[in-house]
Formats: sequence, C-alpha cells, structure tokens
Amino acid sequence: MGGKGQAAVVSRCPCCGYRTGCVTCPVCFWTDPAQADPGAFVAVGGPNGDLTLSEAKLNFALYGASHPKYRDVVRKPRPEEIV
Ligand SMILES: [Zn+2]
Repeated sequence: MGGKGQAAVVSRCPCCGYRTGCVTCPVCFWTDPAQADPGAFVAVGGPNGDLTLSEAKLNFALYGASHPKYRDVVRKPRPEEIV
C-alpha cells in the first residue's frame, strides 16, 4: 500500500471520541458495553451502571470523565488517540 503501516485502526470511544480502543476508556473511563460483552448491547445496567452514554458525554464535557468519581483516574489522550 505504501502508507504508514504501523498505526492500526483503533475504534473511537463512543463517549469522548478518542481512539483509545479499550473496553474501559482510559481518557474518560467509559466502558463500552458492546466491546465488554459482544452481542449483548445493553445501554442500562451494564458495566456503566445506570449511566447512559448521553449522560457520560455530558459528564465528560463537564468533568473530563464519564463520571465525576473517575476524575482522578483518567488521563489525557495521547497524540495518536486524538487523530
Ligand atoms: Zn473515552
């Protein structure tokens, strides 16, 4: 192909939008229910408790984390996760 081959395509976090590709995002601490339990997409009562994705997005905008209790454990996105 001739392009930069080292960067694998990593899925974006549905909450913060960074390409962390983790089940639990280190940037916002959202846990992707689809990745955590493929085939059983549960929006409520899953690994995020009763937190919905829209609430998590709002929390991320306000606190920099999907829930205020995660403010101290999240980290800044890395340059390769922002693209
Ligand atoms: Zn995230």
